Amino acid sequence: MALSPETEQAVRARIAYFRDLGIFDFYRRDCPPGETAIATVTDTEDNNAIVAHLESETMPQKLSSLPLIGDTPETIAPRDRAAALQAIREEIGPCTRCALSAARHSIVFGDGDPNARLMFVGEGPGADEDAQGLPFVGRAGQLLNNMIVAMGLRRDQVYIANIVKCRPPQNRVPEPQEANTCLPFLFRQIEVIQPEVIVALGSTAATYLLGARSPLAALRGRIHNARGAKLIVTYHPAYLLRDPRQKKEAWADLQLAMAELGLKGPAKSQ
Ligand code: URA
Repeated sequence: MALSPETEQAVRARIAYFRDLGIFDFYRRDCPPGETAIATVTDTEDNNAIVAHLESETMPQKLSSLPLIGDTPETIAPRDRAAALQAIREEIGPCTRCALSAARHSIVFGDGDPNARLMFVGEGPGADEDAQGLPFVGRAGQLLNNMIVAMGLRRDQVYIANIVKCRPPQNRVPEPQEANTCLPFLFRQIEVIQPEVIVALGSTAATYLLGARSPLAALRGRIHNARGAKLIVTYHPAYLLRDPRQKKEAWADLQLAMAELGLKGPAKSQ
């Protein structure tokens, strides 16, 4: 269906608005007869072919119940950040907003320094994380800890979180609906912490933080902007466990982050 220039502009503006919220998958609900008007838009501006199916009258139901980004004041004083994160945790409560709640044991909120300059974002909790309620505590977490130490930091000096806070069954990739439901809470954590640098661990984290899908190879090796921070994309530690040859590449990514933060790596012992 051809769109008038005005309608196309309005649809593009709405897509941009949703993408700013971190929402980039749209669902078509069943439409009663006479209420069709579906638009298909291809966003060529950033060469990222997003095909969106938007209903003309109503937003997808889920969106209206999403917590609003921007509820959090722009800058929270460093001394108040722990309490602000706790308030977000309390708002999440015993969450049943998406299907992942059915099988999870723990909500893995995030862990680390509320004033961290560096934040890592993974995909979603695995079995160990689900059992302990903390991010990256399994084998991939051990490797992430080593990466953090190699950067000259301790784990308690960074903040670690995930795109989704509940374990996807069989560690599958979170469905867009699950990720988009959880994402506003991560964005609010980022707003509170205001990290200078975010390292996206793997493709899922990069996709949802950037609001666009691209192959990891196209995203690595340069600095992006996301949520007011510099964003660096690298391999997920679980992938590095499967293919350790890529560790050298991951180290190059971490060195980018170190350069941004003025880190020189661990002090050499005499
Ligand atoms: N993988 C992730 O993406 N996150 C975790 O917390 C653990 C493993």
